[in-house]
Amino acid sequence: METVSISSRLNKSMRQQYLSLPQGEKCMVTYVWIDGTGRELRSKTRTLDSEPKDIQDIPVWNFDGSSTYQSDGSNSDMNIVPVCMFRDPFSLDPNKLVLCEVFNFDHSPAQTNHRNSCNRVMEKVKEHCIWFGMEQEYTLYGVDERPFGWPANGYPAPQGPYYCGVGANCAYGRDVVECHYKACLYAGVKIYGTNAEVMPSQWEFQVGPCEGIDIGDHLWIARYLLHRICEDFGVIASMDPKPLKDWNGAGCHTNVSTKQMREEGGRHEIDRAIEELRKKHSMHIRVYDASAGRDNERRLTGLHETASIHDFSSAVANRGCSIRIPRQVGEDNRGYFEDRRPASNCDPYLVTKAIARTCLLSSEE
Ligand code: ADP
Ligand code: MN
Ligand code: MN
Ligand code: MN
Ligand code: MN
Repeated sequence: METVSISSRLNKSMRQQYLSLPQGEKCMVTYVWIDGTGRELRSKTRTLDSEPKDIQDIPVWNFDGSSTYQSDGSNSDMNIVPVCMFRDPFSLDPNKLVLCEVFNFDHSPAQTNHRNSCNRVMEKVKEHCIWFGMEQEYTLYGVDERPFGWPANGYPAPQGPYYCGVGANCAYGRDVVECHYKACLYAGVKIYGTNAEVMPSQWEFQVGPCEGIDIGDHLWIARYLLHRICEDFGVIASMDPKPLKDWNGAGCHTNVSTKQMREEGGRHEIDRAIEELRKKHSMHIRVYDASAGRDNERRLTGLHETASIHDFSSAVANRGCSIRIPRQVGEDNRGYFEDRRPASNCDPYLVTKAIARTCLLSSEE
C-alpha cells in the first residue's frame, strides 16, 4: 500500500516552474468518464488548437475499453462524447475538464452510462423544474489501509467530538477538504458547503441545488476533483458506504424539490411525492448503491442515523427516517425533502432518475 503515496512524495514546488510556462493558443482538455465498474473515474488529456468556448467545440474522442472493464480486446474502441465543460483547477485557465458519456462501437450507451437514460427522464419532467442537492460523504484513508490518522492498532476516541469538529484531535485531514472546496469553485462546480462528519477522517461536501441532469454532472466532477487532490496529498478518498461496522457509515443524502413544492403550500406536493416513494421502496434501494442494494445492507441498519433497509419511514426533522422533511420546511409549509437512503458510492444519475420517475411519472406506468 506504500505505493499510494508515491506521487505525493515528488517535490511539488518544482511543478510551479513548468505549469507557469506560456502555452500559446493551445488548450489542454482532460476528458473524464465513468469506467466499467460504474464507480471509478478515468481521464486522459489532449491538445486543442484553441480554447473551446462551449461543449460543441470539443470533439468526440475514444479510448481502449478493454483496459477499463468496458469491452473485450477484439472490439475495444469506445467513444467518449463531451457533455459538460469545467475549468481545470490543476493546469488552470484556459485548460478544461470535460465530463463525457461513454458509447459502444455501435453507438449504444455503454453499460455503466446511466446519464443517457437519466437525461431522457429529466427531459420528460422539465416543466416541473426539479432541483437536487446531494450530500457526498467520504472517508479519507492513509497508506496503511486504515482511515487517515487512525492508530495502527486500536481506535480513536469514540464518536462525539468529530462532527463539525475543530482542533487537531478532532479534524483529520482538513487540508484536503479546503483544497477541494477551492478547486470546485474554480472549476465551476456548484458546491454548496462542507463539514467534518461523525466518524473521524470522514467528511462531507454538498453539491446543489442543481436542476435535472446537472446534479449528476456536477457531483461526478466534484468526485474527480477530490480523487485528484487526494493524489497530491498521498491519501485516498473512499466512497465505501460502511467502512467500519460500529461507526457511522457514509451516505449521499439526496434533497429534492419541484417548482410546486417550492411554492406556497408546497408541503402537499411533498407529501404526495413521499407516498409515491413509499410504494417503490425496494426498487429505489436497488439503485441507491453501487452493488444493487448490498452495500446499503451494511449501512442502513437502523442505527447510526439511518432507517432500516427493510422499512420506509418519513418525518419532520428525524434523521432516523428514510425521508426527512427539514424542520424549516415543516414550518414554512413548502420547500424540499431529503431522501437519506442513497449510499456514498451511488451513481447520482441512477438515484435522480429513479426519484424523478417515481415522483413525477408514476401515472404514466
Ligand atoms: P443536512 O442538514 O441534511 O446535513 P446539508 O446542509 O448538508 O443538509 O445539505 C443540504 C442540501 O440541500 C444541499 O445539497 C443543498 O443544495 C440542498 N438544497 C437546498 N435547498 C434545496 C431545494 N429547494 N431543493 C433541493 N435541494 C436543496
Ligand atoms: Mn497507447
Ligand atoms: Mn449534510
Ligand atoms: Mn452528513
Ligand atoms: Mn443530510
